[in-house]
Amino acid sequence: MPERSRLYRTHAVVLRRRDFGDADRILTVLTPNYGKLELIAKGARKTTSRKAGHLEMLGHSSLLVAKARTWDIITEAVSVESFSALRSDLDKIGQASYLAELVDSFTETDDENLAIWDLLILALQELNALEPRSSSAPLLLHWVQLQLLALAGFQPQLFECLGCDAELEPVTNFLSLSEGGIFCPGCAAARRDVEPIEADVLKVLRFFQTRTWPTIRGVQVRPHILQRVDNLLHRYLLTVLERRLKSVEFLHRLQHMDAHPIPAAGGGAPALPTIEESA
Ligand SMILES: [Zn+2]
Repeated sequence: MPERSRLYRTHAVVLRRRDFGDADRILTVLTPNYGKLELIAKGARKTTSRKAGHLEMLGHSSLLVAKARTWDIITEAVSVESFSALRSDLDKIGQASYLAELVDSFTETDDENLAIWDLLILALQELNALEPRSSSAPLLLHWVQLQLLALAGFQPQLFECLGCDAELEPVTNFLSLSEGGIFCPGCAAARRDVEPIEADVLKVLRFFQTRTWPTIRGVQVRPHILQRVDNLLHRYLLTVLERRLKSVEFLHRLQHMDAHPIPAAGGGAPALPTIEESA
C-alpha cells in the first residue's frame, strides 16, 4: 500500500458519516489505494460549506487530504459521480445503505483492496441505473454478497464436498454455515451442524459466485428459490461477521431483521423454472 504523504489525493466513497463538534463531520470512506479511512470534514455542516455537497452518503468524490494526528483532514472535495438516484427512491435508499454497511463490515482501515473498491463502484453504478423496484436489484445484492465474501477471504465452498473432496452431485446436499460449505449426503450423515440444501438453490448460489454481473442481470429466479438463497446468504453473513466480531451495530441490525434483509422486488417478467438467462 502506498504511504500517505503529508498532502495526498484520493478517490473515495462515503460509507458512513457522523456529526462531530458543532459543525464538523467524521466520514468513513473507502478508497482504491488506502482501503478504508476515517476523515474529518471541518465545517461540513455549515450551510456555507462548499465541500458538503460533494460528500454525500455513497457519493464518489475526489479528495485532497492533509495528514493529521487523529483524523486526516479533507481540504478539498470534488464530486466524481453523485449516484443521486440512490438517495431519491425509498427502495434504493435501503439497498444502497445495505451495500454501504456490507462493504464497511468487510473492509479494514488502511488495508488496500482495489478489487473491493471496483466491486463497490460497479454496484453503485448499476443500482443507481436500475429502474425503481427492478427485479434485478435483489440479484445485484446477492451477487455483491458472494463476490465480497470471496474478496474478503470467506468464499463458501460450493462445488466439492468439504468432507471427501468429491464433486457434489445435483441432489439434495448438506450445508454447514460454520464450516462455510457443502457436505455430500454420505459425509453429512455423521454431522450435526448441517442442513439440507436443494440442488436448485445450490445451482443459483454457484451461478452468483462464478458469473459476472452482466450475465446475471437479466436472469429470472423462481421466488421461493430466491427466498432460500436470501435466507442462506443472510445467515452465512451473520456467521462470518460473528466470527470476525466486527461491525457490532450492523450485526445487531442483521440479528433483529427477519430473514429478508433485502427489500423484495415486485413486477418483472413471470419467473421461469430455476434459472434462465434472458435472450
Ligand atoms: Zn463427502
